[in-house]
Amino acid sequence: MESNQVDKSRPCKRCNGTTKKQYDGSLCIWCRDVGNKDGIFPRPDFAAIIVALKPTRGKNKSGFRASAPRYKMADLDSLRIYYVWRWFRFHAGLDVTIPMNAELACTADPFSRELEAVSATLASAATGRVSQGTLRWGRALGYVSDTEMGKLEQVGQVGDFARESGPAFDENKPIEESSETK
Ligand SMILES: [Zn+2]
Repeated sequence: MESNQVDKSRPCKRCNGTTKKQYDGSLCIWCRDVGNKDGIFPRPDFAAIIVALKPTRGKNKSGFRASAPRYKMADLDSLRIYYVWRWFRFHAGLDVTIPMNAELACTADPFSRELEAVSATLASAATGRVSQGTLRWGRALGYVSDTEMGKLEQVGQVGDFARESGPAFDENKPIEESSETK
């Protein structure tokens, strides 16, 4: 098999496609609960996800829907749409709290890194800025210095959500995410 081939599917990150928990042989809930009974996840349809994230009515500033897309644990496509929506909000600076709910929803998804990369790309295209969530956390954790922050500030890369004193999320944060406060 060629290594540069685009893989159409990948095994579950939790059970490695065996559908069983390694330690006691019981069923892997991370496959079963998202409807993947064979332990294999299909490659996401990235274009369909982007289409699903368009505003449901009218236009909003970001060009993406403001309200959370509904998702069900048994519906992998819906989980992925929610995941990209939530990470988009993190990178775009609409909600810079850590997306714990979204990470939990896609914890076994072997394509989660690609999905997050799509969110980051969409966010920088929509805002013309670097990731505001990453900037805020980089600042809080000491990865981004005052000097770097000052330089970014000068070129208009620092929005309110990137500042430690700024808001952490907007009024569109779903109630289901209320445990995400940092
Ligand atoms: Zn599994």
